[in-house]
Amino acid sequence: MEIRFLGVHNLESADTKLMSLLIDSMLALDAGSITSTLSFEEQQRIKSILISHHHFDHVRDLATLGLANLDWGTKKLYSMQEVLDVISGNLLNGVHYPEMTQIPTPENPSLLPCVINVGEPMNIDGYSVLALPMVHGIPTVGYEVTDGEGKSIFYTSDTTQGIDDCWQHVSPDLLVIETTLSDSMRDSAIKSKHMCPSLLAETLLGFKKAKGHIPPTVVVHMNPAYEEQIGKEIAMASKEIDADILLGYEGMSIVI
Ligand SMILES: [Zn+2]
Ligand SMILES: [Zn+2]
Repeated sequence: MEIRFLGVHNLESADTKLMSLLIDSMLALDAGSITSTLSFEEQQRIKSILISHHHFDHVRDLATLGLANLDWGTKKLYSMQEVLDVISGNLLNGVHYPEMTQIPTPENPSLLPCVINVGEPMNIDGYSVLALPMVHGIPTVGYEVTDGEGKSIFYTSDTTQGIDDCWQHVSPDLLVIETTLSDSMRDSAIKSKHMCPSLLAETLLGFKKAKGHIPPTVVVHMNPAYEEQIGKEIAMASKEIDADILLGYEGMSIVI
């Protein structure tokens, strides 16, 4: 399984892109930077998009991808019903932008909404996909994606402390988890339902308690203003808890 990190930040600029991962060129996790980073050929190759929650930095490129995709057949858009409703009602609603879930035809739209049931594994394009609830300000799921060879990634998307219950349900070869703020902002991180390095370390120790080890971990969703400090604190934390933690970057690619 190849995982490409298209966007790993919560703010966009010339140097930073919004959250999107791409698995084996065909399965996208979140849609913050699909069209801003991929060629049209690469966009066309995507079969399905899994959305974690409806915050704009995770869904923004659904609009531009949906328009580009009008001539390419249907792509499936997976998420919880409430998330799909917000996307259809606000982003792809025929006012703000064309109704990509209805055109070119309602039977074969550019983006076909598909409801996922949290906690129930689904087969999507040959992958086993399990959505599990995360702790964030709005309904949010993390996704474990397992390929035919049994290799798996777990992507938490946006979350904060309090997700230890989910570890018993997943066995990732790679964990992709957020760290938005630095440790000097720990209170803000808890309040805004995000992670800082010390919260991340506590969360990884929770994984170790459940599973006996800490999986290789990539940190994403950094706020660029605090990224340098986050990097220093992550380096210290990884030594303290004896974990293999890397800071993600746009263009990063990992094969598991
Ligand atoms: Zn969010
Ligand atoms: Zn976000």
